[in-house]
Amino acid sequence: MSDLDLIAFDADDTLWHNESKFAAAQANFRQMMAAYHPGDVVDEALNQTERENIHHYGYGVKSYTLSLIETAIRLTDGQLPASVIQKVLDGAKEMITDAVEPLEHVEDVLAQLKPTYPLMLLTKGDLFEQDAKIAKSGLASYFTHIEVVSEKNAQVYAALLEKYGIAPARFLMVGNSLRSDILPIVEIGGHAVHIPYHITWVHEVATPSQEHADGYEQLEHIGQLPALLAQKG
Ligand SMILES: [Mg+2]
Repeated sequence: MSDLDLIAFDADDTLWHNESKFAAAQANFRQMMAAYHPGDVVDEALNQTERENIHHYGYGVKSYTLSLIETAIRLTDGQLPASVIQKVLDGAKEMITDAVEPLEHVEDVLAQLKPTYPLMLLTKGDLFEQDAKIAKSGLASYFTHIEVVSEKNAQVYAALLEKYGIAPARFLMVGNSLRSDILPIVEIGGHAVHIPYHITWVHEVATPSQEHADGYEQLEHIGQLPALLAQKG
C-alpha cells in the first residue's frame, strides 16, 4: 500500500452516520402500517419496492420516500389515508434537514492524513442531498477532490481513476460497503480498506467470492487507518 497517489473515502456510514437514520425511519413506517400488516411483511414489501425503484430513482431520501409511499399504497390496497402520506413526507424532510454527525475519529484521521496524501470524498447518491450533507459535515476542507456518482461499480471506479490519471495500484478506497466500496476496487486491482458500520442496508449486503476475500484489509474503526498505512507503507 506504499506510494499511494490518492486515498478516497466513502461518506455515508464511513465518515458520518446515515443508515441509523434510515433504520429509524423504517421503524416509524412499520408503526404507521401496523394497523394493516405485521412488521416483517412491511419490511419485505418495502425491500421489494426499493429493489425495483433503485433503477428508476437512484439512492437517497427522495428515492426512499417514493418507495415508502408506493409500498404503503400497496399494503393498504389503495386505501392509504392522506394523513399517513403527510407523515411520510414530514419524516423525509426531517431526514434531509437533520444534522450530519461525523463518526468518531473521522476528523482526527483526515487531519492526520491530509499533509501526506491527496484525499477524495467519493460518495454515491443524489447530488443535491449529498452536497448538502458534505457542507453540513464541516469536513469538506480536508478533501482535495469531491465526487458524487450515481453508482459505484468497477466501471465507474475505472473511469474515475482514468479521469484523474491514477493507476489502480496507487489508489486506496476506504468504506463501509463491501458491495460498493470494496469488491469493485479489488476487481480493478486497487487497494481497499473495509470498515463495517454497525448496520448495513439490505441492498448493500454482499459476500465476497473466494478470489476477492483476501484482496482487502478490514478495520474495526477509522481511527486505526493511520497505523495501517504506516505499517504497510
Ligand atoms: Mg457507505
